[in-house]
Amino acid sequence: MVDLDVLVIGGGAQGLWLLNDLTKRQYRAVLLERHELGGGQTCHSHGLIHRGHYYDDVDMMIILNAAAQFWEAFVDANGLSKLNASRALAGFGSGTAVKGHTYMWDTAGLKFDPCVEAPPILRGGKAKHLFETDEFSLDTSEVITGLSHDVDHAMYKLDDQDDSLAFFRKGTSIVRVDALLSGTRVDFQPKVVVFTAGVGNYGLLARLDADTNLVPAGTPVQAQRKNHMLIVRGSHLPMMTAVFPIRGGLHGVFLCPRTDSTTGKNVWLASDHNSTPYPMNINGESSSDPIPSPDWVQRMLISLGATAPELLTDGTVENLEMAVYTGLTSERNFGVGQHMTDLYIDPLGFENLLAIWPTKLTMTPFASNVALRFIRPKVPEPSGAWPTVGREITTPAPQKASEMWSRPKVEGSYEHKTEMLPYREFLEQWHVGERGGPA
Ligand SMILES: Cc1cc2nc3c(=O)[nH]c(=O)nc-3n(C[C@H](O)[C@H](O)[C@H](O)COP(=O)(O)OP(=O)(O)OC[C@H]3O[C@@H](n4cnc5c(N)ncnc54)[C@H](O)[C@@H]3O)c2cc1C
Repeated sequence: MVDLDVLVIGGGAQGLWLLNDLTKRQYRAVLLERHELGGGQTCHSHGLIHRGHYYDDVDMMIILNAAAQFWEAFVDANGLSKLNASRALAGFGSGTAVKGHTYMWDTAGLKFDPCVEAPPILRGGKAKHLFETDEFSLDTSEVITGLSHDVDHAMYKLDDQDDSLAFFRKGTSIVRVDALLSGTRVDFQPKVVVFTAGVGNYGLLARLDADTNLVPAGTPVQAQRKNHMLIVRGSHLPMMTAVFPIRGGLHGVFLCPRTDSTTGKNVWLASDHNSTPYPMNINGESSSDPIPSPDWVQRMLISLGATAPELLTDGTVENLEMAVYTGLTSERNFGVGQHMTDLYIDPLGFENLLAIWPTKLTMTPFASNVALRFIRPKVPEPSGAWPTVGREITTPAPQKASEMWSRPKVEGSYEHKTEMLPYREFLEQWHVGERGGPA
């Protein structure tokens, strides 16, 4: 039997931030991961650390800007590089009443300056009002490495099978969790349990026999959404981070850069703000299709051509390659018909449980901080961090995931990635014409 202050289940950015925060404060905490660290939403993400410039909501700006401070400290402490070579850009179409946005940015304390000279790749594009901001992009696999090194000894690979966890309850308290680690059942007795399993939170709640249909009755406690990402590779792409909100003729574009270490070429991860519901049952089964939608590919090419016309002109497209992938996000569901962009932390009626849906990578340190405030009164005297030497469990730590764009072709049950193709072959694959026009 292993006594613990906190058992964290799920090793994406959220679980790892929390494990670090707990360990630093001398809580005896262990994290269990079923697949690879970061292999869920975290390594599908653009790695954009928002400050809120994209949103029309001052409260959201204030929270994101606060969360970004944690990331600034993390980048410095771990010697990470911000991937954009110059300040990030926020751009609006000509019809936008920009003063409304800059007023909100000022109110929320966001920094910005007018961009005096647009990068050549945006020349002739629809973004007529450009601002420089302090948003930045990170390589999410580097984030996972940075979040792992001080807590490597406290993370364990859970066996990848449906019955690898069994929960034992006394009323609304979890008193014991049995976990299957390398074929051996380990009996944990945690004071608090935290679910940070992303899409997997739903199945964990069902296994715990929690109420997975909450108000309004019959509404699943969690909703999943399918997101797309276009991968663009070319030697002439600038290392640029940019957000173009849905305003003044623009359709919402996020651009975040990478360098492909295999080819030495630069990569853009480009997507919009659209996602579609992806219902699934408590076993994670869905009748929805993870394959990318041709309509999305077409819309994204139109948006990209409108914002960065120099990218898709003759003479430059010959150097471009493209691929597309999908991945799910998960969120606490309230059945109100609109999807959540805010983080949500919920004990779901339990004494010693928290389920966390951060909805943004940016929010994860902030959500971890909020979770600590719940844990502190439940565990007023931390028992001392999990020992690095002479620890009770000797089974291996989980592997770390690579970023989704850099993986070969993927055909999973909730995710799909196509092969990288030369631009014109990519257009043929999706039956679209130049810049997303008719084929
Ligand atoms: C395409 C895309 C782009 C995005 N872009 C951005 C962006 O630019 N900026 C931003 O701020 N946010 C972005 N997001 C959102 C962001 O990625 C997520 O909010 C964040 O990564 C969630 O972190 P997490 O740790 O909660 O979940 P995850 O990263 O999904 O981690 C959950 C972990 O739990 C594990 N797990 C699942 N079930 C179990 C189980 N039963 N037992 C044990 N372990 C389990 C999984 O294997 C996984 O490793 C994006 C998301 C997507 C999909």
